[in-house]
Amino acid sequence: MRTNALIPAVLALAAAATALATAAPASAGSRGTELGRQTLPAGDGWASAGTGTTGGAAAPAGNVHVVTDRAGLVAALASPGPRIVYVKGAVDAGRTCADFATGGYTLAGYLAAYDPAVWGRDAEPSGPLEDARAASAAAQTAYMKLKVPSDTTIAGLPGAVVRHINLHVDKADNVIIRNIRFEDAADCFPQWDPTDGDEGNWNSLYDSISVTGSTHVWVDHNSFTDAGNQDSAQPLYFGRPYQVHDGQVDITSGSDFATVSWNEFADHDKTMLIGSTNNPATDVGKLSVTVHHNHFSNTLQRLPRVRFGKVHVYNNYYEIPDASTFVYALGVGVRSQIVAQNNYFRLSRAVDPAGLLYDWGGTALTATGNLLRVAGKETPIDLVATYNAAHDPDFGPDAGWTPTLHTGIDPASSVRREVSRHAGAGEIS
Ligand code: CA
Ligand code: CA
Repeated sequence: MRTNALIPAVLALAAAATALATAAPASAGSRGTELGRQTLPAGDGWASAGTGTTGGAAAPAGNVHVVTDRAGLVAALASPGPRIVYVKGAVDAGRTCADFATGGYTLAGYLAAYDPAVWGRDAEPSGPLEDARAASAAAQTAYMKLKVPSDTTIAGLPGAVVRHINLHVDKADNVIIRNIRFEDAADCFPQWDPTDGDEGNWNSLYDSISVTGSTHVWVDHNSFTDAGNQDSAQPLYFGRPYQVHDGQVDITSGSDFATVSWNEFADHDKTMLIGSTNNPATDVGKLSVTVHHNHFSNTLQRLPRVRFGKVHVYNNYYEIPDASTFVYALGVGVRSQIVAQNNYFRLSRAVDPAGLLYDWGGTALTATGNLLRVAGKETPIDLVATYNAAHDPDFGPDAGWTPTLHTGIDPASSVRREVSRHAGAGEIS
């Protein structure tokens, strides 16, 4: 841990940029280099392809910012790049849902207007209450969804929190986000869609981090949690969970070359979506993502869910304690090419290992070296054969490519210990 050295270094930087720039170490490796100037190691996943991922590491001293509130974060993200943005303390959107509600929107009014007993189930809501909901949602979006531009590093100082905010890496290249605890990017105005699925669904807009149309993105050593506003605690309306969250990290809309490493994803439903549509217009040949050494703890689905992309999922620790809420781990979607390697799945007895995969229209995946732990007993698991024995149609066993961009791949037997110790915010060494 270098964190004790980091705080005074960064504060000094804010006060006396020139002096510190001279003092800042220039070594290329992670150790000894100031957090904001660290870059993705060569070969560390898909984000290392081509030009690699350096974020704002090359920022001149005048482009280094320490932010303590939303306004500061907004200003830093709009400042000239390359830029380094240090988050200090808790940066909260700082408004309540009531601040965004407009046009006469109330949840009670919305529920009354679109109760299936009144509105039916054949059409999506429309009319004054839906218009008011959409206008209220637009007001929230304008305030809490913050665009992250190219050549940016956002790094948390010790204890940094980003709360009720959606970082949106949009049409950008070369972005690093590290060492931040992200909390509760809740939607104040979920939309009811009675035509979504057999029973309808409440849908929400915001992820903690959304990556759209972007390349070379490294999301590393963050913690994602809904804190005191968990999906599992939401009420049912119209018999369906009132879903106020979308993803924790969603990578969609033609994005390519991302590495998602050493994060902790906890207590969340829809965790990581890679590819948001079966329409091939934007994503064919893209959505190349590496997901390694993450801790998925009581997360319910999309760990990740993949369409189109060549996605390398290795050395992740899956902790699945509750069969009653768990949906699936790896979503095998249309034209996806997942390679699942040396992951560790710790399941409660009631969780069916055949349900670790889910068929969202995919045809094959490669799965090797994965380990299952149930009731204290570890056994190798062939994810594909286990799935195929219980489901039809079968998945083929070959995703059709072999990952080459990766650092050391650990044996699955050490993943639980390594990831438990070192994943999440506050653990960069
Ligand atoms: Ca999303
Ligand atoms: Ca079968």
